[in-house]
Amino acid sequence: MRNSIAAYVLLASVITGVTAAAAADECPPGALGVSRTIAVDASEHTRVGSMQYSESLPLNDHEVVLTFDDGPLPPYTTRILETLASECVKATFFMVGRMVRGYPSLVRRVYNEGHTVANHSQTHPFTFNKMPVDQAAQEIEEGNASLRSALGDPKAISPFFRIPGLLRQNSVEQYLAAHDYMTWSVDFLADDWTHINNKEVARRAISRIEARGKGILLLHDIQPATALALPEILHELKVRGFKIVHVVPATPDRPKTVTEPEQWVARRSPEQQVWPRTLVVGAESPLPVLAAPSPENFGIEHFGEPVTKVALAQTFERHVGRERETPLPPVTQWPREASFPVPADATALPIPSALNFKYSRPFRLGKPERSKVGNHKAGSSPAAGTKDPNATGSTASPSGSGPRPPRAVGHQLTVIRPPLALWPVWR
Ligand SMILES: [Zn+2]
Repeated sequence: MRNSIAAYVLLASVITGVTAAAAADECPPGALGVSRTIAVDASEHTRVGSMQYSESLPLNDHEVVLTFDDGPLPPYTTRILETLASECVKATFFMVGRMVRGYPSLVRRVYNEGHTVANHSQTHPFTFNKMPVDQAAQEIEEGNASLRSALGDPKAISPFFRIPGLLRQNSVEQYLAAHDYMTWSVDFLADDWTHINNKEVARRAISRIEARGKGILLLHDIQPATALALPEILHELKVRGFKIVHVVPATPDRPKTVTEPEQWVARRSPEQQVWPRTLVVGAESPLPVLAAPSPENFGIEHFGEPVTKVALAQTFERHVGRERETPLPPVTQWPREASFPVPADATALPIPSALNFKYSRPFRLGKPERSKVGNHKAGSSPAAGTKDPNATGSTASPSGSGPRPPRAVGHQLTVIRPPLALWPVWR
């Protein structure tokens, strides 16, 4: 009965051309809904998404932006639209121009149902990271032209662009910024373009959203598993207290949402990014501890808030070879410094122990000994023999027979085996 009513409502809305406004009125009680809509100025923040950039959307904790790439493609895009409508949720669709040309009515449906329509290139080549910028520009502008021909009104198309495969390069990003496009990367993936089923798509999406707490989720509306996974993703987001944010471009009639610059700073949690970080946890540490030096130790009485410099990852372009080489994803550059409040557990340092200064094997300075004369005399050096416990089991025992191995001369450390006990073990 309920289904037939819903079908009637859907049919009626199609017939009468009723759009998002009316659909919102039919929102069932308890639907996830859109918690807020933010309008962004593409020329102010040109690149977003912490996976590749230092900025992401100005979201609060437990806010998620849904994005769908590579469509439209029936019946999967259609199914996804139905699922989104059933929860009154709005998303951003990064469409491929070639698909737009194939299914223009589906593009119009996406737009008419209140979602944001964005550009994802004309043919989705996986060479955006190495193609000449004018070729990239052609892909971008043709994608835009396809959207314009489907929607008619240029204002219906957002100035948001996502680079196919996220295969960025500086020249392309500069082109996009110069032409008032906002380049969208992502904050988390669900790997839904790989051969995983809908349960796994939903599991990865939710676990990564939980781990980061907020951000842009990348999904693909051409994937059957994604269409099947979406109801579960939305259900899990709802029961876990997440909110959906809809992002639209700022226009003269719709001014940008007021934000502070720091709201755009994409910051990962220190546990994910900071290396190395050792924790000395109270009684569990077998070693005594000292207070870490503070500015007061150096006669500075006031030093502002306690902060510590840590290194954060930043992406940069990796060199890609000319022929037959697999395009590589961007790698992280290191270090970039950022300030974090000093965690309480970082105020104590372990007292250095003898183990910290232990050489992996003994070495001696001085003249080589004569091998044919009594070896007992050679062992009279205080640095050798049984007095040094570290020498036990090492090479070049003075009492050995046969030819002597070459001796290290001067201040050399030749590490034969990894010095297992060189550093204290943290637990
Ligand atoms: Zn894509």
